[in-house]
Amino acid sequence: MAAEIRVFPCLSDNFGYLIHDPQSLKTAAIDAPEAGPIMKVLQREGWKLTDILVTHHHADHVGGIAELKKTYGCKVTAPHDQGTAIPEVDVRVAEGDTVQVGALTARVFETPGHTLDHICYVFDSELALFSADTLFSGGCGRVFEGTYPMMWQSLKKLRTLPDDYRVYCGHEYTAANVKFCLGIDANNEALKKRAEEVAQLRAVGKPTIPVLLGLEKKTNVFLRADDPAIAAAVRLKGFSEDDVFGELRERKNKS
Ligand SMILES: [Zn+2]
Repeated sequence: MAAEIRVFPCLSDNFGYLIHDPQSLKTAAIDAPEAGPIMKVLQREGWKLTDILVTHHHADHVGGIAELKKTYGCKVTAPHDQGTAIPEVDVRVAEGDTVQVGALTARVFETPGHTLDHICYVFDSELALFSADTLFSGGCGRVFEGTYPMMWQSLKKLRTLPDDYRVYCGHEYTAANVKFCLGIDANNEALKKRAEEVAQLRAVGKPTIPVLLGLEKKTNVFLRADDPAIAAAVRLKGFSEDDVFGELRERKNKS
């Protein structure tokens, strides 16, 4: 039986995610921006929270952990980097580790850049990538703790996953991201179509997530820093991938 995944808003623009295994009845939250909305969805579905899979230490991803742990006694899995203030951690994981949620298996990808401890969770059986603040739809996270080359390597690692995987990212930033991409890649038909779809979804208050990784590979300029067309568009023809990625990120920072 396939897992059930729920997507819902938390805080101002975070996504809350629950993944439920109907066989074992285990349910994991991917990050815990705040307890309230997560508990509401759990109650609505009649699910009990057994796990929290943490992607990185930022407050808007861990703020709900203490209350959820108190309520459900759930297991908290977090990145191996212990220099960060993630509360109530039971298990630390690193690159190549797997996490079980009942019959569901998540692979851990280390993706430093936004923070040094950032990890993503990949559920291959569900074709699901929980990319948090590394890869957004149409964008990528700000590079707070790592370097631009480090972030570019992390994005390239996620890009190795197949096109039919769905991306579940940390924030609803898609409309602004797609607008930024259009400013660089104005004649990209797939991007123009995605922009229309995003505008329609947002007009009725619907999330733009999940999105197919294959579509991101075609439309997200931050996954295309090694594409000569993108290098030319930012006037860095012949420069390195790292230079092009850095220029894209700098431009986005200022946008
Ligand atoms: Zn973050």
